[in-house]
Amino acid sequence: MTVANAVTRSRYSFWSLLRRSYLGGKAWPRAWRGPEPKPAYDVVVVGGGGHGLSTAYYLAKQHGIKRVAVLERGWLGGGNSGRNTQAVRSNYFDPRSARFYERSLQLYESLGHELNINIMLSQRGVLTLAHSDHELDSMRRWCNAIRLNGVDSELLSREQLHAEEPLLNRAARFPIVGGFVQRRGGIVRHDAVVWGYARAASALGVDIVEQCEVTSLDVVGGQIRGVHTGKGWIGASHVMLAVAGHTNTVLAPLGLQLPIVCSTLQAMVTEPVKPLIRSLVNSPTVHVYLSQSDHGEIVIGGGTDGYDSHVQRGGLPAFQANAAAAVELFPALRQLKIMRTWAGVVDITPDTTPIMGRLPIGGLSVNAGWGTGGFKAIPAGGETMAQTIATGREPQLIAGFTLERFAGGHLIDESAAAGVAH
Ligand SMILES: Cc1cc2nc3c(=O)[nH]c(=O)nc-3n(C[C@H](O)[C@H](O)[C@H](O)COP(=O)(O)OP(=O)(O)OC[C@H]3O[C@@H](n4cnc5c(N)ncnc54)[C@H](O)[C@@H]3O)c2cc1C
Repeated sequence: MTVANAVTRSRYSFWSLLRRSYLGGKAWPRAWRGPEPKPAYDVVVVGGGGHGLSTAYYLAKQHGIKRVAVLERGWLGGGNSGRNTQAVRSNYFDPRSARFYERSLQLYESLGHELNINIMLSQRGVLTLAHSDHELDSMRRWCNAIRLNGVDSELLSREQLHAEEPLLNRAARFPIVGGFVQRRGGIVRHDAVVWGYARAASALGVDIVEQCEVTSLDVVGGQIRGVHTGKGWIGASHVMLAVAGHTNTVLAPLGLQLPIVCSTLQAMVTEPVKPLIRSLVNSPTVHVYLSQSDHGEIVIGGGTDGYDSHVQRGGLPAFQANAAAAVELFPALRQLKIMRTWAGVVDITPDTTPIMGRLPIGGLSVNAGWGTGGFKAIPAGGETMAQTIATGREPQLIAGFTLERFAGGHLIDESAAAGVAH
């Protein structure tokens, strides 16, 4: 059996797990093929993060476009898609964001079955805390707006909050007076999402080429012709950039710059402990969010390092601030050791809404600007960009997310609703 066939035919199941364990765990086929690039494709996707891979998958699956390559300069998920804190939710304020993120959450709810991989979806609830009566008042409005958008959201009193999370600080410096919860929000395993899309796309015929950096775009007469890469020139009728913080680096030689700035966003995990925190708890005021992994580690994230940077390593001030805020919410964490800390380069737009759709060069499109919250958007991001490429125009779901909004001033300012970085 060829590698390609093995990839196409292998199915993950309880029985396959049992069988492979019996064989000493050695007989697993490769999850995706690793071909050399062909001379030309219908579509070249630059960037093997979640958004690039999901776009390639939906192109092949929903539109029958299979002459597709995903070119990744490093390894799949080595960017932000494998570095995030895995929070998924759809409790956005603006109806355009709510519709989009709700579609994404719905896709996540069935993604494990669709991709035949355990994405470890845990809808444990995303709890947002209010630290003053005024904040609770604005949360009531926020919560109602979310419900009007058709998304689940419940306001919680102080007592209800403490019933949900008994270890929450009852004597916090900024007293916790209530909050709201999206019960369908939670956690999804990031590696599984990346690998699941890669495996499924590869089985449909998409070529995934790692260690293949796109060094420049080949544009003639305002039309894309292909890409120059470390593995030579590759022709393409359409090129989509899904390179997050590297978008402007790739576009610079064409004289195009998108309104994206980059900053470092870091996270950390503690040593594993018994179950302490049930939901994903998030505080816009002390600027931190926490959840507990299946291993028992407490996963902690917060705001960006606060200055422009392309470095995948966080600074000490933000690390200290995040750790202090976590202990402020859950004093029981005080004794825990931090096991690991890591960071990614996040690509932030002025209104913290992504830039999706066609660019003013024929056959070139972009899916970037996800900043601190694009993991939850991967399924809908891929689905809508595949539709854009296949039909030549952006579907209604992302009509407001195009580059033109900056020219017309139609910004979708979601930073308040995002609260903190996730
Ligand atoms: C610490 C941290 C915590 C986060 N937590 C959350 C969270 O809880 N929930 C949430 O929704 N979001 C979260 N995010 C944000 C989320 O991870 C990103 O928005 C999302 O993963 C972006 O996906 P992407 O595919 O656009 O980019 P990436 O995953 O960064 O993929 C881009 C890829 O392009 C490749 N590339 C770059 N240049 C080139 C080139 N020239 N040629 C070829 N390949 C190239 C890179 O190597 C990279 O693999 C977090 C991010 C960080 C850093």
